[in-house]
Amino acid sequence: MSTPVIQGWCPGALRPMQSGDGLVVRVRPRGGRLTPDQARGIAQLAALHGSGLIDLSNRANLQLRGVTDASHPALIDGLRGFDLIDTDATDEARRNIIVSPFWTEGDGSQEIAAALARALSAQDAPNLPGKFGFSIDLAKSSTIRTASVDIRIEWHLSGWLVRGESFVTGAMVDTPEAAATAALELARWFVDSGGVEGGRGRMVRLWQNEPRNTRHDRLPLRFREGSDAMLGNAPPPKPGTFAQGQLVGFEFGQMQAETLAQLGDLGPLRVTPWRMLLIEGLTEAPQIPGLITRADDPMLRVIACTGAPGCLQAHAATRPLARALAPKLTETLHVSGCAKGCAHPTAAPLTLTATPTGFSLIRNGTASGTPLREGLSADDLTETNILNEFP
Ligand code: SF4
Repeated sequence: MSTPVIQGWCPGALRPMQSGDGLVVRVRPRGGRLTPDQARGIAQLAALHGSGLIDLSNRANLQLRGVTDASHPALIDGLRGFDLIDTDATDEARRNIIVSPFWTEGDGSQEIAAALARALSAQDAPNLPGKFGFSIDLAKSSTIRTASVDIRIEWHLSGWLVRGESFVTGAMVDTPEAAATAALELARWFVDSGGVEGGRGRMVRLWQNEPRNTRHDRLPLRFREGSDAMLGNAPPPKPGTFAQGQLVGFEFGQMQAETLAQLGDLGPLRVTPWRMLLIEGLTEAPQIPGLITRADDPMLRVIACTGAPGCLQAHAATRPLARALAPKLTETLHVSGCAKGCAHPTAAPLTLTATPTGFSLIRNGTASGTPLREGLSADDLTETNILNEFP
C-alpha cells in the first residue's frame, strides 16, 4: 500500500489547504452553533468565492471547497463580517473545540466553550499541535466519545470533569472559567511532558508511550486524585427528532450552498462530529432535497472521503463506488481514496482503500490496516458479493 502524505495540521480559514479542486477553507462556528444569518452568509460566500460545495468535517466544522488564491481574501472579509474569523491563524488553529449538539440552555456548555476559546487565545496559551482538540459534552450519556479529541470536559455526578483522552481520572470543576483553566493546565502539562514532536502530537500517543506502572503518577495532582470518568456512553445518533431539534444528514457529509441557506431559514444550526446538522427547535423533518432524514437510509452505512479527482492524493474515485455499494451492505463501509483514511480515522467493520493497483479490502481496521484482499476493481466489488464473504 503506498504511503500517504501526512500534513499534520488541519486547514483553517486563514490557513487554507490546497486540494485537487482548489483551496479548502475550514470555518469553525463558535460554540458549535451558527445563527440563521451566519448560515445564510456562509452559503452566499461559498457560492460567490468557491465552488458552492460545503463539507461537514468530523471535527464539527464546515469546509468551503473550490476557493482560489484570488477569491480567498474577499471570502475572509465576508466571513469576518459574520464573526467567523479569529484574530490570526495561530488563534484559529488552537480553537479546536467540539461541543455536543445536545447541549441545553443554561447547562454551561456554551459558557465553557466561550471561556475556553478566550483562554486559548491568550498570549501565554500553550503552543499546541494543529490536530490537538477539546470536547465539551455535559450530557449524562456522552454521544461524542468517538470524536477525535485530546482533552474532554464532561458531566459528572458532582460537577464537571476535565480529563485527558484515555485518562480514567480527571479534575473536578464547577464554573466555566475553572473548566477552561483546568483544560489549559492539562494542555500545558502535555507540552511540558514532551507530547509535541516536530509540531505534531496527540494526548493518546503521549499516554501510550508512558510505562504503564508510572504514567498515572506523572499526571498533575488534581487530575490524578480527582474523580473517575463516568461510564455513560451512547452510540452516535441517527437522523431524527430530538428534544433540541431535528438532526439531518447529507450524502458523504456534503451539501450545496443553497441547501445550507435553506436550512438557515429554519433556525439556528448546530454542527456535529457526525457530519450532520441539528436544526434547533424544529419538530418535523424538513422537506429539502439532498437531506438524509431517515435513520434507515442506506447512505448512512457508507463513509467516503473526497477521493479523486477532488483530492490530490487519491488513487481512485470513492463516492460513486460507495453509493453503488450502499444498498448491498448490512454494516458500515468506509471507502478511502488512500491509506490516510481522512473520512474515518478509526476502524470500520469494512474498509476499501484505493491503491495504485486497485482497492484493498480490510476487515475491522483502518484504511491503513492489513488487507484481506488486494487489487480489487470497482467492477469486482459492484458485480459480486465479495464484501459479504468475510465474517
Ligand atoms: S483519505 Fe481521501 S481525502 Fe484523505 S488524503 Fe487520502 S484520498 Fe485524500
